[in-house]
Amino acid sequence: MTPSALLDLDRRHVWHPYAPMPGLDEPLLVESAAGVRLTLAQPVRGHRELIDGMSSWWAAIHGYRHPVLDRAAADQLGRMSHVMFGGLTHEPGVRLAKRLVDMTPEGLEHVFLADSGSVSVEVAVKMCLQYWRSRGRHRKTRLLTWRGGYHGDTWHPMSVCDPEGGMHHLWSGTLPGQVFAPAPPSGFDAEPDAAYVSELRGLVRRHAEELAAVIVEPVVQGAGGMRFHSPAYLRVLREACDEHDVLLVLDEIATGFGRTGTLFAAGHADVTPDVLCVGKALTGGYLTMAATLCSTRVAEGISRGELPVLAHGPTFMANPLAAAVADASIGLLLEQDWAGEVRRLERGLSEGLEPARTVPGVRDVRVLGAIGVVQLDRPVDLVAASQAAIREGVWLRPFRDTVYTMPPYVTPDEDVARVSAAVCAAVAASVG
Ligand SMILES: *Cc1c(COP(=O)(O)O)cnc(C)c1O
Repeated sequence: MTPSALLDLDRRHVWHPYAPMPGLDEPLLVESAAGVRLTLAQPVRGHRELIDGMSSWWAAIHGYRHPVLDRAAADQLGRMSHVMFGGLTHEPGVRLAKRLVDMTPEGLEHVFLADSGSVSVEVAVKMCLQYWRSRGRHRKTRLLTWRGGYHGDTWHPMSVCDPEGGMHHLWSGTLPGQVFAPAPPSGFDAEPDAAYVSELRGLVRRHAEELAAVIVEPVVQGAGGMRFHSPAYLRVLREACDEHDVLLVLDEIATGFGRTGTLFAAGHADVTPDVLCVGKALTGGYLTMAATLCSTRVAEGISRGELPVLAHGPTFMANPLAAAVADASIGLLLEQDWAGEVRRLERGLSEGLEPARTVPGVRDVRVLGAIGVVQLDRPVDLVAASQAAIREGVWLRPFRDTVYTMPPYVTPDEDVARVSAAVCAAVAASVG
């Protein structure tokens, strides 16, 4: 089919994320991708190749068509793409579970392999609610989170997304009502705010009787606004949860696998949650898969309860193809100096985004690990900003009031510089 025929059909029949039907902006037609470059079916603003500044939403940490991951997928394809996980098991699923147990914070021993990040959060919530139910604490069914978060688009995850970003007013009465703390004060390096800490503790204490769990994204709030906060607040939450019999769930779907400079963002605070969600970069961006890990206390609590099973089992649970690629992707990550590569990107982004600091209309420039964010004092002009980045030969997808990038770890220095220049150009196009 010709590019224009495809785009015409796309417009008529295909939903895109967070879009009306038909869509507002015409998507770019991608023909293939390799390394850190997307190849378009036809040139746009003089470019057929774009450097990917988004890692396909945090996922493609090793870039595209990595030979090791391609081979893992092809080898597994030669054995089986999928078998059901009820009553059957397989080496890719077992190996991946063991790897996740080994690399995540101490104490997380049991792994539920789910098929997307949102589902892994659903499973985490079900684990927590069922744990308390099994212990006879039937009132403990609510969740506490802080504003500015994002945990996915299915129903329970939506209930803990930022009320404004998650459009809770649209769903009032239908979404479960959760307990919200104010957003954590900004700044990775900022001293913890004493008033905020006592407010957080007070909320956990006051609601302890009805709280099953606290769920937050550690250190970096992603799709809720790309905000960074002090790891100290995670220690506060851990203590408050321990003190008041509440479980702690960390959602590391965006932050996992090295993105913030530690293997998991919980590592900045040396905190072990009771339940941990990972996804996005889990398969190196190849296939959809996520995982929910829990402690032995949670697993035993559930398994000795009135319904002594975790009643969840997606059709494609532990999909062997995805599991084999995930295992290879984690192997690839751990056998290289991933921390050095992330630090290299951190330096490149810090340097490259510096000029944006003095641009009128820019509120903040922040970099942590391989994440670079320029926040404006107004909403980004999505079309103008994306077009400006494309003119620089870079793919970015700004949202709300931020132009941001989280490039693949393999991005060479000269491409990091081009991505940074594109962020600055996108910013200029938005405020100009
Ligand atoms: C992306 C994301 C999710 C949802 O994952 P999906 O795979 O899109 O369902 C949940 N939590 C966080 C922190 C995320 O970044």
